[in-house]
Amino acid sequence: MNVENITVLGSTGSIGQNTLDVIRRNPERFRVKALGAGSNVGKMFRDVKEFRPDVAVLADKDAALELERLVRAEGDLGSVRVEGGYDVLSSIASLPDTDSVMAAISGSAGLVPALAAIKAGKKIYLANKESLIMTGHLFIDEARRSHSVILPVDSEHNAMFQCLPEIVQQSIGYCDMKAAGVSKLLLTGSGGPFRKRDISTFDAITPEEAVAHPTWSMGRKISVDSATMMNKGFEFIEAKWLFNASNDQISVIIHPESMIHSMVQYRDGAVLAEIGNPDMRTPIARVMSYPDRIDSGVGPVDFFAIEHLEFIRPDFSRYPCLKLAIDSCWSGQSATTALNAANEKAVAAFLDRRIRFTDIVRVCSETVSRFSSERSETMEDVFALDSAASAYASDLVRKYTI
Ligand code: NAD
Ligand code: MG
Repeated sequence: MNVENITVLGSTGSIGQNTLDVIRRNPERFRVKALGAGSNVGKMFRDVKEFRPDVAVLADKDAALELERLVRAEGDLGSVRVEGGYDVLSSIASLPDTDSVMAAISGSAGLVPALAAIKAGKKIYLANKESLIMTGHLFIDEARRSHSVILPVDSEHNAMFQCLPEIVQQSIGYCDMKAAGVSKLLLTGSGGPFRKRDISTFDAITPEEAVAHPTWSMGRKISVDSATMMNKGFEFIEAKWLFNASNDQISVIIHPESMIHSMVQYRDGAVLAEIGNPDMRTPIARVMSYPDRIDSGVGPVDFFAIEHLEFIRPDFSRYPCLKLAIDSCWSGQSATTALNAANEKAVAAFLDRRIRFTDIVRVCSETVSRFSSERSETMEDVFALDSAASAYASDLVRKYTI
């Protein structure tokens, strides 16, 4: 078997570290070609020593200089090149001898390097859902043009991928689910840490409470998105693009135990579910080895330890961000681009204690209303809209600052 040369973008983050663990367990299958991240010198240096990539990149140039100093001081790392700057992330996503790219930079910063991988025709393991929220069919069209294969890492989409027929798996982005006998994608979510909290106290939610996810361990931004269920709304939009779904082909179901990671309902009444322990190494290993199966480090499910499984209809008064995202999905590309930009600003401000938890949806819905009829026909339109919506949302954050 040929060794796969992989570039890991966002290597110091939660998905990045889980990816490196899967690689660590399968050294005969993967070679780390390049690592890229934001500014965490300590983690990057440790991973450079272990995986010895050709190139290590930190977007923060000062952090890259510090990394370079550490690498050069370590006599036997002479072959590792260290580079600094955001633009270099796109170069390591498109290196001629890179076969695949794990796209796991968080937020809108993940888009440009993911696009570079796609344009270069790489196989892309897509964790950065924001790429699809921001650019939708433009992203899918680029992938089709360059014959880049997209494999979904997000656990729900990965679960659906596993439950879908092969013909759909092999035409991600432009599949025909109806022709394949699929009637619905059942998108499950835990409901986050505030599923039972009194709604009248949501104003007082702290960042610490919001990032304490009951079942999954994730980065801070996506943890807040899970608490508002904006994340599930984003996943609704992500499912639409990955599986070419229409609005009556996706339903959201709250399933607090997070054992079922999503399901696919077929026209004959059969429903296939993917079940596993909530550990991102399973979906990561699934995409990286597809169509084979490899060791991920995740243990088997202990069915006798599961007392019961619950399924609940989402209550939009508890999760207004979920409603806003679903409405934006059907409103169009401009709405979802604006929503992503606003949410990024609002969540960062909430984590900095500048606005309240309940202000997140205010900032987002006002931004969506302002920009949903702007142009989003081309990538240039989308980038301009993203900047304008980000600036508008920053102003709203100032308006709501506590
Ligand atoms: P994280 O915050 O743990 O890590 C983010 C990574 O991106 C870090 O390596 C960081 O250095 C890098 N980064 C951030 N901003 C950057 C910038 N401007 N330039 C360069 N690098 C930058 O995030 P995460 O939880 O690993 O999530 C990564 C992506 O995967 C997100 O898009 C998230 O929505 C998606 N995702 C995560 C999970 C999960 O379980 N963590 C599940 C599904 C999808
Ligand atoms: Mg998910």
